[in-house]
Amino acid sequence: MKYISILIASLAIVLSHEVNAQAPYVLKKLNYEYNALAPYIDAQTMEIHHSKHHQGYVNNLNEALKENKDFAALKLEELLLLGEKLPVAIRNNGGGVYNHNLFFDILSPKLNTEPSKSLQASIDADFKGMKELKAQMNKAAASRFGSGWAWLVLTPGGKLVVTSTPNQDNPIMLGSEVRGIPIMGIDVWEHAYYLKYQNKRGEYLDSIWSVLDWNVISAKFEEAKQNPVLKKIAQETIKSKPF
Ligand code: MN
Repeated sequence: MKYISILIASLAIVLSHEVNAQAPYVLKKLNYEYNALAPYIDAQTMEIHHSKHHQGYVNNLNEALKENKDFAALKLEELLLLGEKLPVAIRNNGGGVYNHNLFFDILSPKLNTEPSKSLQASIDADFKGMKELKAQMNKAAASRFGSGWAWLVLTPGGKLVVTSTPNQDNPIMLGSEVRGIPIMGIDVWEHAYYLKYQNKRGEYLDSIWSVLDWNVISAKFEEAKQNPVLKKIAQETIKSKPF
């Protein structure tokens, strides 16, 4: 019995380590086919975006973590908290993996989904409704110079805020202008829309609202409220930001 207990205890340590260390990372599968979001987002864009760009961030993150084993032991969100302190390859590719996991999750061919009552109440309180949220998101996305993201973020103060980050940064990262847990993000890298929309980023931004899955975004909102990373951001920002 004693040996069995030791074996189980050892296994638990190994397993908890395995669970904690997500590395090496693997490409998250989509919940829909590449052609499922057409005509809003075309199949070729989806295939290249997921199988080449997203896969590239996964591969490059794994490669960068080989040289930085301490970072490999951290969960992805914990890693991202370090933000501007991270080696640049881990910051860019770690952000790339996380941001695309979120982005592809919140898209869906199910049309006309709606926010949960709880999320709708927050959207009403913080934006006076969906129309203003959409206007703020699209403005943030349209005015992001070059490559980056527009975000809907739950801040440590419990407020929903729209913000934008360059490159593959996101609001979890130390150094981002608004910090919190993103529950929705719009990719405004040209690889996300150029094949179909070319220079017309605004048309892409209008289209993408048709394929947002508000059931998933609502679930992410509830998860974000319970996310311990939100408390860590609160501790880090308490002196510098009133959120
Ligand atoms: Mn992208």
